[in-house]
Amino acid sequence: MSNKLTRCVGCYQHLSRLEPRLTCHFANTQWTLDNKRYLACYSSYHPPCIRAGLPFTTRHSDSYGLSFPKNCVLPIFVCEMCTVRAHIGEEITFNPRHTALVMLERMRLIDTVHNWAKSTLGIYKQKVDCLVHFQQSFGVVIIPTCTSLLHPPVTQCIPAIWAQLQYSIQPGRKNGTMSFTTVRNLRSAISALHSWLLLTTDPDHVILNGNKIPWSNSNGRVTDSYIYTA
Ligand SMILES: [Zn+2]
Ligand SMILES: [Zn+2]
Repeated sequence: MSNKLTRCVGCYQHLSRLEPRLTCHFANTQWTLDNKRYLACYSSYHPPCIRAGLPFTTRHSDSYGLSFPKNCVLPIFVCEMCTVRAHIGEEITFNPRHTALVMLERMRLIDTVHNWAKSTLGIYKQKVDCLVHFQQSFGVVIIPTCTSLLHPPVTQCIPAIWAQLQYSIQPGRKNGTMSFTTVRNLRSAISALHSWLLLTTDPDHVILNGNKIPWSNSNGRVTDSYIYTA
């Protein structure tokens, strides 16, 4: 392991081999995207050191929801620096826009991991330890290491979530913060625009699923398409 990885990026304290850590999949390796080479990030964290502060807030009294759980162990982790670099197509600088995106991505990661209940994460850690031990004892693979991930995934949904998170911290009418419904409406607007895009670019194959949500079905019959049946 590189010397740079023996200290936590969040607290700069020593990373013991005995305690849980989250190391970026690209911590030690450079990666290429769109013919551009990116540096290894050397990012490794104590899980709770992946945290967000103001302007992000939580309704929980103990700041739960603003940091990774203590014992969080994941089969793969891509840090905020790598995900942002992949999406903006350049290395991170001191540009305030880059800093803002890194903060938004960190908050997105925290939100994502909290999709699991607190208690579930504790159970998950024990089970992962059990599975890793079994793998090492018998030389078999149960949890893939995702060596096929050659660069951080570039998506449209991640920047959409960043936009939603940034919108959520704008001053609102109620208690100075934006209401959940108002934030949710931004997501609805993104959904509506994507639905229209689907209907416009591939009208032959857009069907409605059981919840009346437009869905792309390239194998479907044109007579089943939403445009045809509307
Ligand atoms: Zn730390
Ligand atoms: Zn990274």
